[in-house]
Amino acid sequence: MTQQLEPMPTDWRRALAVVAHPDDLEYGCAAAVAGWSDEGREVAYLLVTRGEAGIDTIAPSECAPLREREQRASAEAVGVSCVEFLDHRDGVIEYGTALRRDIAAAVRRHRPELLITLNHRDTWGGVAWNTPDHRAVGRATLDAAGDAGNRWIFPELGLEPWDGVRWVAVAGTDRPTHAVDATPGFERSVRSLLAHRTYIEVLTDEDPEAYCRTFLAGTTGAAAERFGGRPAVTFEVFPR
Ligand SMILES: [Zn+2]
Repeated sequence: MTQQLEPMPTDWRRALAVVAHPDDLEYGCAAAVAGWSDEGREVAYLLVTRGEAGIDTIAPSECAPLREREQRASAEAVGVSCVEFLDHRDGVIEYGTALRRDIAAAVRRHRPELLITLNHRDTWGGVAWNTPDHRAVGRATLDAAGDAGNRWIFPELGLEPWDGVRWVAVAGTDRPTHAVDATPGFERSVRSLLAHRTYIEVLTDEDPEAYCRTFLAGTTGAAAERFGGRPAVTFEVFPR
């Protein structure tokens, strides 16, 4: 029998999801977020860029506000009202202390027990190369969990340290350890991805809703054999 994934921890109240681009959370995590919202947990989103380099046919100055609007609508579809943007440059996010500081500041302000991010590894599995932005943000988020708790790191922020992050859960890696049942939040996750309509209409000739539904059913369905037959959102969990 295939090695089964553990259910995600449930003894937490606040999560902060930190990703590089609008749509990063909607390509998988949003179904889990919808379920967490139903349970009365607080989830906030921190976007490192506005995704302004994401659409070939739309110039960055026009694209940034459009993608910000779409991201806010996506978040709302799964019960998330707090969406913040850091304004690093899309496509050329640099891993380093500036990024770690910005993420640590958000962790100190939001005081989450759970941090969520997207695949920090070189590939999605096999030879499917990941993007530099995802790698930089994923790694910096894993690092910022510790930075935020050390009062001598980034004291210039003037924020009380927060050493309460207990897990960093990384979505989209090829070595997941945990999962969340995607069924209760599935329909909202489709609406959430569909909210990135401009991006999706450029990406595919397929009907946008059919594209979103097929994609999300495919990824959550693929995890089912490792989660008792239930469609699932998977995470690689790093406990602290
Ligand atoms: Zn992305």
